[in-house]
Amino acid sequence: MTMTPPPPTAAGIVAAELAAPSPGWFEESDVVVIGSGIAGLSLALHARTLGYRVMVVTKSRVEHGSTQWAQGGIAAALDEDDSPDDHLRDTLTAGAGLCDEDAVRVLVTQGPGAVRGLVELGTRFDRTAGGDLALTREGGHLRDRIAHAGGDATGREIVRALVSAVHDDDGITLYEQALALDLLRDGDGAVQGITLHVMEQGQRDGVGAVLAPAVVLATGGLGQVFAATTNPLVATGDGMALAARAGAVMADLEFVQFHPTVMWLGPAARGQQPLVSEAVRGEGALLLDPHGRRFMMDRHPLAELAPRDVVAKAIMQVMRESGAPHVWLDGRALGADVWRERFPTILVRSRELGFDPVTQLVPVAPAQHYASGGVRTDLSGRSSIRGLFACGEVACTGVHGANRLASNSLLEGLVFAERIADVLATGLPRRREPVARSQSEFVMDEAARPLVQSAMSDGVGVLRSAQSIDAALRELDRLPREFPGEAATAAWETSNIATVATVLAHQAGGRTETRGSHWREDYPETVPAWAVHQATRLVDGELVTELAPLSTPRWEAWP
Ligand SMILES: Cc1cc2nc3c(=O)[nH]c(=O)nc-3n(C[C@H](O)[C@H](O)[C@H](O)COP(=O)(O)OP(=O)(O)OC[C@H]3O[C@@H](n4cnc5c(N)ncnc54)[C@H](O)[C@@H]3O)c2cc1C
Repeated sequence: MTMTPPPPTAAGIVAAELAAPSPGWFEESDVVVIGSGIAGLSLALHARTLGYRVMVVTKSRVEHGSTQWAQGGIAAALDEDDSPDDHLRDTLTAGAGLCDEDAVRVLVTQGPGAVRGLVELGTRFDRTAGGDLALTREGGHLRDRIAHAGGDATGREIVRALVSAVHDDDGITLYEQALALDLLRDGDGAVQGITLHVMEQGQRDGVGAVLAPAVVLATGGLGQVFAATTNPLVATGDGMALAARAGAVMADLEFVQFHPTVMWLGPAARGQQPLVSEAVRGEGALLLDPHGRRFMMDRHPLAELAPRDVVAKAIMQVMRESGAPHVWLDGRALGADVWRERFPTILVRSRELGFDPVTQLVPVAPAQHYASGGVRTDLSGRSSIRGLFACGEVACTGVHGANRLASNSLLEGLVFAERIADVLATGLPRRREPVARSQSEFVMDEAARPLVQSAMSDGVGVLRSAQSIDAALRELDRLPREFPGEAATAAWETSNIATVATVLAHQAGGRTETRGSHWREDYPETVPAWAVHQATRLVDGELVTELAPLSTPRWEAWP
């Protein structure tokens, strides 16, 4: 058993910049936020209260992101029978020995206040007959602590409230259809803004630059790196790729959560697939094998409500043993009223797809769902690059460890947006002129996208081995690099997908053990000495990984 960092990987598709035309227009701001999910919009609102000029750039419409798809809800110790310590314990258990306890403590302690802040902003969570927040339970939680809205439409309601607050604030400039490309840096390497491509917004069109001494990545996850995912089309890992290109420390990317119960729509289904929330199992739905037998009872004391990695692995084992492409979710005992009131969105979507969960079994299988790793940050959302923050799913704060506890991700975006705002309250990083960079450029034809997705799903999916990961890395290395004509959005996104895939496969290959959502067939045991993070950086065209201890990094504080 090796317990050393993986050898450097030649990272031809992790070049220093995306190939793009030089900026044709310039703007200035104090803070640029890239992304308009719960992390980006919360941060923008906080930064405005500090009096800064804030610009939010988002590559599609403002509401498009994973946040609006969140069904189950947001976790926080809000009940009088619950406590931050209980929430901490459940988060550490799910994280399989890889959480940074200091980061989790921040999450669970600040969580209840942050959720109350959302309520004050106008978010209409579901309530009990007595008027209290209605709290439910999800996999891995030993208490009822999930606040939800519109039954299973929590994300939509949160986005509605946040977007409405942002629209009401004249001090926030919002650019939609604006794709961030790369960072602008000064002579010392500190961030001084971004380059971006905007599609027809008044005076702004084409590639431009926004100069700002504080840039916040809030670009969400990387689901589109895989063939089947619950994530929307915008989840192409852009923020992670951009940071990796700039040489930021990336950590824990090997810990990709595969959601156990994603509707199985046939072997050819690709892209975003419909999720059946864990909360459905929380209300009593069961998992059945192809013979109609429950199989979670003897695998975990929490049975169907075991942590996600346990359930996903059990489903994969049943599928392998039986040769079936899916298992069944049985929610018939919930009854029509519970389905209608608690899960209206899932009910409608299932019926559209031909399954009535009130009377029928629903076919489900695991699919990519959440990136536990990302751009490594400290307890205040600072990345390893001066002036660059990361918040939400793009970040690796250390709270999720090897496996995210259900409904902790919306909370992470909220809490760490507040923490970044606390740093900004002490001042902005120094503003200086950006310098031109003369390093390598790269862009990939969009035709490569399905090739990357297949390579990653086949080689670095729920089950991995040295052989399958090497095969994926070889596929990535063989991708065509010639690009005909001038690059546009689809090509830049495809390049980002390929870059993130490379870093992820590199880290998955390095971790020679099984832990949390990282399941190695060739290394089935959890190795205590592997209770460390892999911290990877692009150095002189190679991905170099170091092993880092389980506490958030303490790099030099700025501004
Ligand atoms: C189906 C589903 C159900 C889920 N259910 C839950 C749940 O119940 N509870 C929970 O806690 N979590 C849940 N999650 C996870 C959670 O929704 C996400 O982790 C969280 O919303 C991420 O928020 P974010 O602000 O970091 O990113 P997002 O909400 O994904 O927003 C990212 C933003 O960045 C923009 N962007 C990306 N790249 C660029 C670029 N290059 N330039 C400009 N803009 C860019 C996107 O357009 C988008 O606006 C669920 C996820 C999915 C997909």
